[in-house]
Amino acid sequence: MARMPPIAKIATHVALDRTFDYLIPEPLAGSIALGSRVLVPFGRSQATGFVVGLVERSDRTDLKSILALTDPHPLLDEPLLELARWIAGYYCATLEQVLRALLPAPVRKAGSGFKAQLTVRHARERAADVADALSDKQRAVMERLWTAGPQLLQALARELGITAAPIQALRRKGWVVVAEETVERTPLSRRTLLPTEPLQLEVEQAAAVAMIKAATGVGGSEVSAATASSAAQPPGVILLHGVTGSGKTEVYLQGIAGALAAGRGAIVLVPEIALTPQTIERFVARFGEQVAVLHSHLSEGERHDEWHRIRSGAARIVVGARSAVFAPVRPLGMIVVDEEHEPSYKQEDVPRYNARDVAVMRGRIEGCLVVLGSATPSLESWNNAAKGKYRLASLPRRVDNRRMPAIRIVDMRINAERVGHVSVFSKELMQGIHERLARAEQIILFLNRRGFATSLVCPKCGFRAECDQCSVAVTYHRQDDRLRCHLCGQSRAVPAKCPQCADPAFKYGGFGTQRVETIVKKCFPKARAVRMDTDATGTKGAHDRILGDFRAGKIDILIGTQMIAKGLDFPNVTLVGVISADQSLHMPDFRAAERTYQLLAQVAGRAGRGTVSGEVIVQTYTPHHPAMQAVRRNDFTGFCDMESEFRRELRYPPFARLTCVTFRGASESRVLFYAETISKKMAAAAGEQVRVADACPAPIARVKGVFRFQLMLRAGSVRAMTVPLREILRDHPPPKDVKVAVDVDAISLL
Ligand code: ADP
Ligand code: ZN
Repeated sequence: MARMPPIAKIATHVALDRTFDYLIPEPLAGSIALGSRVLVPFGRSQATGFVVGLVERSDRTDLKSILALTDPHPLLDEPLLELARWIAGYYCATLEQVLRALLPAPVRKAGSGFKAQLTVRHARERAADVADALSDKQRAVMERLWTAGPQLLQALARELGITAAPIQALRRKGWVVVAEETVERTPLSRRTLLPTEPLQLEVEQAAAVAMIKAATGVGGSEVSAATASSAAQPPGVILLHGVTGSGKTEVYLQGIAGALAAGRGAIVLVPEIALTPQTIERFVARFGEQVAVLHSHLSEGERHDEWHRIRSGAARIVVGARSAVFAPVRPLGMIVVDEEHEPSYKQEDVPRYNARDVAVMRGRIEGCLVVLGSATPSLESWNNAAKGKYRLASLPRRVDNRRMPAIRIVDMRINAERVGHVSVFSKELMQGIHERLARAEQIILFLNRRGFATSLVCPKCGFRAECDQCSVAVTYHRQDDRLRCHLCGQSRAVPAKCPQCADPAFKYGGFGTQRVETIVKKCFPKARAVRMDTDATGTKGAHDRILGDFRAGKIDILIGTQMIAKGLDFPNVTLVGVISADQSLHMPDFRAAERTYQLLAQVAGRAGRGTVSGEVIVQTYTPHHPAMQAVRRNDFTGFCDMESEFRRELRYPPFARLTCVTFRGASESRVLFYAETISKKMAAAAGEQVRVADACPAPIARVKGVFRFQLMLRAGSVRAMTVPLREILRDHPPPKDVKVAVDVDAISLL
């Protein structure tokens, strides 16, 4: 066996942007590897850390030794460490922060006795000097280990009638190794599902599957999986652009089956919101016990177990949200990112990574195929396909020749004129609901705003009730008759009269899902209508229960926020009503039109997925907006062309890279002063290639009493911005009461 380098570089949570050198003690030499988690002396106490490098020499001479290995196997390996280093560099985070994101909390915390049990095994063979070197109790422990082999720590202590102290002392002296041994527990309960067979593919689906198989080295050619990864041609990225209902999932399933046949596993990322039982079932029904699920609704124990099932190879396919991109599938054949345009792939906390882009990078590092799928790809991915960086596979039709739903845009200005006041429902939508109810078909009503009324407005003086702590209007919630801030969650009673002019005739402006529900129940008293939004699904399981009832036909009308826009496949839904398409259009964000198109196309995609064709009624006050018109014509390409022109002209992504730096603090003047300082220094340092905006208040200028300012940077490359920015922030650190957040490839600009 090759000799182990004697020194390990360790990243700990204690120190930020650096690693520390430690000696690897003789007993641990054989068991420590890159990615191992270890216990080290740190200052006057101890810390756990990860081995992120193994070297021959250190600059320091006073090195301390690693105390113990906390896990029997490394939790990370070299390709994942390389990915972590890339994320840290690209997204301006520290390696330790990235390593935290890489491992689910219950796996990281396992050292604290959680689920896993501690096992003691001897690290030194029986020796003559035992009697001199060890106490009686310690000797007893060693004798037991030498004769009986590894023992569970608790059982060993109980049996010998000792505490854990002598065992820990032995560990420190290098006589024993204490490690975690995972205890196999009841796996995630899975409903008994009828296994599904691969479907007979449509022509376009077959072409997409063939493209995937060719890229993963299976399919027709004689290339084996092993040679495929080392072949000159890396598998690269395929953008699967398939209209809603075109059968993208079946393409993923058959592509994965190919990877499995070649001895490789797969990761499937879906947006958290789309991680419904329905989505998971489609994978479990095809691949059974080989599927592991990773998302935040699992209990800690479940997440811990699922992760270890993946690491051990028992589960070869992972279906999960954002962080599942780090799942330790070995060897990895492909990563699928479904609904790749979804903003929720971006983590809004450090490290601020985008799981889609991390997937692409992981694919490059590990030589595995990445498939990005969407009915409405992001302009970034679309542009990469146009440039030939990604290959494009298109599914332009729904399966079985089902028709795309007919989309009607209803001009609410005309409607208001006709009925003499602003109303929630147009005549067309009312009519449509009536017809569907009469035919026992189902209806989805979509409104991306929860609550009852969006604001409380005084018709006399124009006063609008806002949150005391945040610069946004509060929303009226009828259930508990309170005004609630959707940013900080604080609520308060409705004032009896206007606080500004004391007029008692307060008026509710705008409307949310609760108000829609009230109207529906009044107008269609016999219909079974249910609302689904974060207010209605607070209790665990409510979400699944409502969808189950809807599927079973126990609900006629489902009213909801974007929670119901994604990935649901209900064949009996023939009408989708979009109550107000304008909200997302008026967001202060250059992606507003793109978001609106995506949202409308996704919601519309819920209609007519069965044999009866569907209809979508979109109510809007801006019917001629290009995004509305493109949705009506189902013309994604046309929309992209138009939108690209605008982005190119103004140098917005994807034609430039964007970094958003946010400054926050309780003192408005101090935050602004610091933001302006950084802005000026950036402008001076970065030169021509970087566009540095003036520091200005964020669109939401105050949250929970904290002031927020923004600095937008744009350039041809990320490094052109982050290299000087990091230097400036290091040389001019913020005052204590100001916080800085650097968001590379920012998605949310609020
Ligand atoms: P998408 O994700 O593209 O919106 P889905 O994968 O949900 O589409 O597929 C829509 C429906 O069509 C599903 O019920 C699926 O089982 C069915 N389907 C997919 N491919 C085929 C096929 N080749 N033949 C018959 N039905 C199919
Ligand atoms: Zn608030």
